[in-house]
Amino acid sequence: MADAVVRALVPQAGLKVSVVVATELAREARQRHGLAPAAAVLFAQGLAAGGLLASLQKEEARINLQLECDGPLRGFFVDASVSGAVRGYVKNPAADVALASGRFQWRGLLGNQGFISVLKESGGQYYRSSVELTAMQLSEDLNHYFRASEQVPTRVALEVTAIGDEPLGVVAGVLVQALPDGDLEALAELGRVLPERLRAWLEGGGGEPEALLGALFPGETVLARVPLRFSCTCSRERALATLAALGADDVQNIVDTMGSTAVTCHFCGSKHEVSLEDLWGILASLGRPQLRN
Ligand SMILES: [Zn+2]
Repeated sequence: MADAVVRALVPQAGLKVSVVVATELAREARQRHGLAPAAAVLFAQGLAAGGLLASLQKEEARINLQLECDGPLRGFFVDASVSGAVRGYVKNPAADVALASGRFQWRGLLGNQGFISVLKESGGQYYRSSVELTAMQLSEDLNHYFRASEQVPTRVALEVTAIGDEPLGVVAGVLVQALPDGDLEALAELGRVLPERLRAWLEGGGGEPEALLGALFPGETVLARVPLRFSCTCSRERALATLAALGADDVQNIVDTMGSTAVTCHFCGSKHEVSLEDLWGILASLGRPQLRN
């Protein structure tokens, strides 16, 4: 089962649909950041949502989905590109609570207030909009985001089911928007049944996103399929540039106190080792060459 996001049209219903399967992506994120089960499950929804939001953008664009909250999770950040590269992190990887069921399922993690912010980057331009969390449930709060910030009637469903002791058994999501002449009542009705239908598909063991699409929207026309993968843009060179940006005094301080260091990337957890030789190189580039023995 490969992770992917698939875009489609359901012409007879006047709907535009994206479906995502993000199981491997969520498992890799969990492993990279050492996420506790509850944090991993909520972040899996965030990663799936990132894939869905990116699928709505034009070529070469990327989106950031940021959530801030006053609960133990404190927040997460997802960066997703139209080409399917996704990365991100959770503010408190250790956040773990027994998740309740029903409407208040996520309050134990998310708390009672916070906001969602979406940043879109396209052709060097940035657009940001935010909404307060009201449902304290990612899919419903995304519906609110689309209504308030984009004025586009949208229904989002995000589901994660466990398989045995794997909390990230299957991770999938669906986003449905009405086409300009679409039936808004049908969309609202669909929104009511979508979470249950998605859950039923996941509980049946999941599969390819096309299979999910076919199960939910018979008669659809697939427009595009983009494979999703966890991918970060960090590198040793960028890590060195980050240190250089601290300035010569701070780098000198690292040389004097530690001799070497490591820069850990927030987004992917990769650790970039920085040797004394590297630090000397940075100091030289900052106009402070070292006297070496
Ligand atoms: Zn990275």
